[in-house]
Amino acid sequence: MTASFPRAEVVIDLSAIRHNVALLASRAPSAQTMAVVKADGYGHGALEVARAAVEGGATWLGTCSLGEALALRRAGIGVRLFSWLDTPEADFAPAVAEDIDVAVSSLDELARVADGARRARDFSPLNAICRVHLKIDTGLSRNGCPPAEWPALVKAAAAAKPLIEVVAIWSHLACADEPGHPSIDAQAKRFDEAYDIARAAGLDPMRHIANSAAVLTRPDLHFDLVRPGIAIYGLNPVPTGDDLRPTMTFKSSVVLTKRIPAGESVSYGHSWTAERDTTLALVPVGYADGVPRSLSGRMDVLLAGKRRPVVGRVCMDQLIVDCGDDEPSIGSEVILFGAGASGEPTAREWADKLGTIDYEIVTSMYRPRIHRTYL
Ligand code: PLP
Repeated sequence: MTASFPRAEVVIDLSAIRHNVALLASRAPSAQTMAVVKADGYGHGALEVARAAVEGGATWLGTCSLGEALALRRAGIGVRLFSWLDTPEADFAPAVAEDIDVAVSSLDELARVADGARRARDFSPLNAICRVHLKIDTGLSRNGCPPAEWPALVKAAAAAKPLIEVVAIWSHLACADEPGHPSIDAQAKRFDEAYDIARAAGLDPMRHIANSAAVLTRPDLHFDLVRPGIAIYGLNPVPTGDDLRPTMTFKSSVVLTKRIPAGESVSYGHSWTAERDTTLALVPVGYADGVPRSLSGRMDVLLAGKRRPVVGRVCMDQLIVDCGDDEPSIGSEVILFGAGASGEPTAREWADKLGTIDYEIVTSMYRPRIHRTYL
């Protein structure tokens, strides 16, 4: 017997986002909170998350690309927006016109940002100041200005008034999710040195360096602004015991059941064979929808309230669950991962099995065939 149901759905609990942002903001009471909503809100939907984060107390939102920030601004988001990584072709004039703060890591980038501010004067003369956050590479060795070039960058930025206003200096930590790792203090020391150099050049910038892990474990690094990402989605990168609430549930439903006899094999490659007569449930979700094929034979789902094994290979569009002597009805709910409260697998459980982090699991859930529902 078959029936038609939505293939799969990602359900996002926006009240959990509001709760998590408020909790993080309370952990850093002397700082403002920038909720990081890059990569489509870590796969949860940037605009919806942005609105919920602002309701939860975020006064800034952070994105990677300028395009992501512009989309939020043009959708009516009014809080401070900061974007930090673009290609050399990026045009900064819209950032100036739309009041978006941008990151600068080099003299070359500074020149391009100033050029954007100059051109923005053509269409927005009153607002043609580009607000920049100078990024110092304190040890992640990703983007950011190397310490040796920092004095020159700071001096040039200070001299670029009135086109450029230096709002902040900032950096990013390499090992904040390993509390006590010596690199954290080493990065903090370089950050202090960079600040002193900026002050000596006549600047009075804000400072920000704390990601989620540092918000929760390093109050000394909160400074003026904190930038939590993963924790606003309820996934805690450090075992602090904070009441963070996971916000994403990935679910589908049973579209077909069948009884097979002992000895019958299942799915491509016949990697699993029934040892006894059993009932199989077919779930219309597969690796094209974000269920990694490499979890074949080592994942469970919560089906009709019970944890049950996925058997045989995960296919492109479907997977098969062994229900034993139970006969779930067509349309029964199947939770692939969620908060874990009812015994369902979590994104962390998937990540552990796959040798990755839960960030990668949730950010990969933005898929055209998957319906998103917001609670
Ligand atoms: N700041 C920057 C520059 C980032 O790239 C990120 C995420 O990678 C964050 C903050 C947030 O980090 P997390 O998600 O670990 O809190």
